Amino acid sequence: MPELPEVETVRRALDARCRGKVVESVRVGRPTFYRRPPAAALRALTGGTVRGFSRRGKYLLLNLEGRPSVVFHLGMSGRLTVGGESPHVRLELTVGGELLRFHDSRRFGRVGCPLPELGPEPLDDAFDGAYLWKVLRGRRAPVKALIMDQRLVAGLGNIYATEALHAAGVRPGRAAGSLSRAEAAALARASREVLEAGVALGGATLDDESFLDPLGRPGRMQERVKVYGRKTCGTCGAAVLGTRRSIGGRASLYCPSCQR
Ligand SMILES: [Zn+2]
Repeated sequence: MPELPEVETVRRALDARCRGKVVESVRVGRPTFYRRPPAAALRALTGGTVRGFSRRGKYLLLNLEGRPSVVFHLGMSGRLTVGGESPHVRLELTVGGELLRFHDSRRFGRVGCPLPELGPEPLDDAFDGAYLWKVLRGRRAPVKALIMDQRLVAGLGNIYATEALHAAGVRPGRAAGSLSRAEAAALARASREVLEAGVALGGATLDDESFLDPLGRPGRMQERVKVYGRKTCGTCGAAVLGTRRSIGGRASLYCPSCQR
């Protein structure tokens, strides 16, 4: 599932491509597949000038002059592309003569949804060790589940949470409230570092996910992961283990040597 770095990669590509251009036409495809059919509102975008694309957590916003923003959530498999054929086009905008398409084969993506309540952006100053320690303190839930809770911090999913915990030396199944102030600070720092690396490398394109940017290019963050999707730890070579209990539906990987 696309996380902050993948959504930011999409945002940058579309912003560079579409900023200042006019939405010439809108075609809403297969409207029955929308959970929230926003067809009329989407057609009303015609004639609008693109101010740019912005991002909040894992949400992408298309901002237009004098019109409400359109919120996209890519879900599991949603993609926004410039050109590109797909049998699953949900929305097609002609912007400055180019076809901007939202397609989604698995239907978990959303267009035109309201933004939910979201915690701070992990790359902003408001997200630091003191903040993280405060929201983890006293909580018995696994630390990994909490840092993936978008209401506490917006943008971390399975890949980057797994990698941030590894970089901070903290096991994913630890009770959140058991982290010391120093561990919370290390985790906040590590979260920022892995997300910044992910953005710099254009996101992660792993075997079981199929992230590609709007021009069809894969990311390179998968070359840097230390435990996610690996059999051995990329730092020390120890065999990677999975938590006995699932967190968010599946076992969470960690290195028993690097993480306490
Ligand atoms: Zn290790």
